[in-house]
Amino acid sequence: MNTENKTQLAIIGAGPGGYVAAFLAADMGMQVTLIDSKPNPGGVCLYQGCIPSKAFLHTAKILSEAKEAKNFGIDFGQPKIDIEKLRKWKQDVVSKMTAGLGVLTKQRKITYLQGLASFADHKTLHIEKSDGSSQELSFEHAMIATGSQIASLPNLPANSTRIMNSTHALELKDVPKTLLIIGGGYIGLELGTVYASLGSQVTVVEMLPDILPGADRDLVQVFKKRFKTLFHAVKLQTKVIELTETKKGIAVKFQGPDKKENEEEFEKVLVSIGRKPNSGNLGLENTKIEVDQRGFIKVDPQRKTAEKNIYAIGDVAGEPMLAHKASHEGRLAVEVIAGSKAVFEPKAIPAVVFTDPEIAWCGLTEDQAKKQGRNVEIAKFPWGASGRATTLGRNDGLTKLIIDPGTKRILGMGIVGPGAGELIAEGVVAVEMGAIAADIKLSIHPHPTLSETIMESAEVLYGQCSHIFSPKK
Ligand code: FAD
Repeated sequence: MNTENKTQLAIIGAGPGGYVAAFLAADMGMQVTLIDSKPNPGGVCLYQGCIPSKAFLHTAKILSEAKEAKNFGIDFGQPKIDIEKLRKWKQDVVSKMTAGLGVLTKQRKITYLQGLASFADHKTLHIEKSDGSSQELSFEHAMIATGSQIASLPNLPANSTRIMNSTHALELKDVPKTLLIIGGGYIGLELGTVYASLGSQVTVVEMLPDILPGADRDLVQVFKKRFKTLFHAVKLQTKVIELTETKKGIAVKFQGPDKKENEEEFEKVLVSIGRKPNSGNLGLENTKIEVDQRGFIKVDPQRKTAEKNIYAIGDVAGEPMLAHKASHEGRLAVEVIAGSKAVFEPKAIPAVVFTDPEIAWCGLTEDQAKKQGRNVEIAKFPWGASGRATTLGRNDGLTKLIIDPGTKRILGMGIVGPGAGELIAEGVVAVEMGAIAADIKLSIHPHPTLSETIMESAEVLYGQCSHIFSPKK
């Protein structure tokens, strides 16, 4: 069946949605063709997203920890940064991982076609290959996993090397003296953390009343206290209305909450205002597949499109645009193709902002509960009372549980502090397994670790927290 022109399952896009789906399908015995423009699988996540950004964020963490070591009597002196070596290290991480995925693709006998695919009809793909040739591929099932692309601002100065998007920023061509980040979402804040730790004076501008919309405000508050020492300024409720290239940089005209306009010059500007789905240029007009107003492909709970043999998963199929959500949907769609009745209905998709401190949450947030008019109990454990946090010199964290008052089921968890991204996995398991707060309270957590803050937040709910005194009511 897997001849040059015929396949059982064609997957368009080899990001964390597409390649994970392809690997599972091959493991389950399906004949799979995976199509992507890059020589190896990886998608945005490995080439221009999660992995390169986290490689740089790791170095940012080393720099900030070295700086803070002064508080403990250790002075490393001024760090010397070899930008070329740093860039090469990040590139090596990316190359190692994408090459590894190439090997896994071959080991599973998946046909990998390097090129761009579009639908000729609901059973045939047209593929423009990277070697200049083209081919038709007929399929039994197809999966659209084409991800998303960077959204930009209109009227940017044309061809300016001083205006960057997230992909340019990850190339780390240089460390500008002053950097403006347009957009206070997680990508802008993470990249701002990288550049600030390398020595840029970073200003963030956000149109909305606060940064990180969607994240729990208690967690964001903790982060904001610390970022004052990292970022030069954060301008909220402020619009960028004009960008003009000058001899020395980019002149930026802002309009603040008082509607007054002012201008500042920056050596470079990073535009980080979001991402949009890659659903154009796919030949969807040759099928019955529909997209919504924002361009996301419409899917049912099993990730089927209006063409019952074609599935869509990952960023192209809707929010949240996160790698782990893409992988999970991809695996679910493969199970459905194999005959499962499964549907996509997670209770907890974790979100992590890899800043310092990290912010992580899953399940229901307090804000969402309020908007839904849902009565919830909140239990908070401030890291000031954590032994482990004190040994790290990081008492600024917070762990928070959102609990159903009747059943005491854990509906959501939020954590801010170093390592929050790792810790939140316990929250995901608790929410998905329908754990009650007593399950967490009665599970022995290792000492001294930050994970104890989760156990102690459950103890707070019952007024029995070891390290926080709750007077009897
Ligand atoms: P993608 O990874 O976008 O992959 C889609 C692939 O399809 C691409 O390789 C593309 O070239 C290919 N393609 C598109 N059209 C065609 C076509 N017609 N034919 C063939 N191939 C095609 N998410 C997290 O969960 N954690 C993070 O820490 C995180 N950090 C990020 C940092 C940055 C700077 C950015 C930009 C993103 C980050 N993300 C993060 C988001 C994450 O990268 C995406 O959610 C994830 O990559 C989506 O996976 P996907 O498989 O849907 O698509």
